[in-house]
Amino acid sequence: MNSFVSAAAIGAKAEAAVDIIRLSDVRRRFGETPALDGISLTVRKGEIFGIIGRSGAGKSTLIRCLNGLERADSGEIHIDGRDIAGLAEQELQPLRRRIGMIFQHFNLLSAKTVEENIALPLKIEGVAKPERLQRARELLDLVGLSDKAKAYPASLSGGQKQRVGIARALAARPALLLSDEATSALDPETTRSILSLLKDINRKLGLTVVLITHEMEVIRSIADRVAVIDAGRIVEEGQVWSVFGNPQTAITRSLLGSIRPQLPEHITARLSAETGSEAILSVDLAGPEAQGALFADLSAALPHSFRLVHGGIDHIQNQPVARFFIAVPARDPRLQDQVAQFLTARSARVEVLGYDTDHA
Ligand code: ADP
Repeated sequence: MNSFVSAAAIGAKAEAAVDIIRLSDVRRRFGETPALDGISLTVRKGEIFGIIGRSGAGKSTLIRCLNGLERADSGEIHIDGRDIAGLAEQELQPLRRRIGMIFQHFNLLSAKTVEENIALPLKIEGVAKPERLQRARELLDLVGLSDKAKAYPASLSGGQKQRVGIARALAARPALLLSDEATSALDPETTRSILSLLKDINRKLGLTVVLITHEMEVIRSIADRVAVIDAGRIVEEGQVWSVFGNPQTAITRSLLGSIRPQLPEHITARLSAETGSEAILSVDLAGPEAQGALFADLSAALPHSFRLVHGGIDHIQNQPVARFFIAVPARDPRLQDQVAQFLTARSARVEVLGYDTDHA
């Protein structure tokens, strides 16, 4: 490992609990549209923090406020201990150098080689050529592209281009890396390799990463904490396993639709609100409370009280996140309550979705 990596990693450990970003009641309006409507949040040094939300929720405006590309109308934006909200453009520039940024479409200069692209932020800073090329080589090594120094972006794959983007973002030794949909243009396999690189850099350098994405899988696989933004407000925030395992708002549940088990459509289609042969219940359980043989115990306590219909157990941040759908015979209405009570006593969240009108 080269020297700058180990020094940064040691520094990161010592500062582990410090907030690197602190936003307080940040507001930004475009005409009648409140793009940011009172955002308060903190990001700790060394963590990977995800921001998710539907299109138009305010994610880009928020990330642009973090690097000073967008001005907030009001509120405080502390980055690395400084309130940047009131800084003049000139004062912002040195701070921007402390913030690396990667983009969905890489934003590489096609007329420059890979090493020139990576060294560009250092050139702008006035770093001498041998030193900046040396740094570019170190970074190429870090992102696994040592053999591409003299290549031009056009000859690279999407994943390789994003590796160059990452190397360039790290050139000036930023304290913070902002990622704006950095994997959205990549196929699933390349996405996985870029995410694993980001995680690796986060660990090795202790670099804080803030990422905005519409891809829940990105958050699931590398983020420590996540904030859900809707109509310019944070509607939910917490550790990823906790938010994904127990989403509190309809917005979050809808965003997570693709990565949480859903009741199969043909069953949903025949659900009735009032009557049917079986009640269909969703059962959610996450984290330390999800340990143990829940359904085996339920079966022992209340024989023949249910059958499993659908679902499974995921693991996020090494925590189990379980979501099942069960069917409970409707002939004895008390059974449903007994099952629900048993599961609730074991910390599961239970919801009756309706009655299956057509189960043979
Ligand atoms: P997201 O990144 O979550 O899709 P944005 O931050 O781009 O959301 O947008 C939030 C809201 O602010 C949207 O209603 C968008 O139309 C509006 N908005 C963003 N930037 C501008 C702008 N430069 N001018 C006018 N409206 C804007």
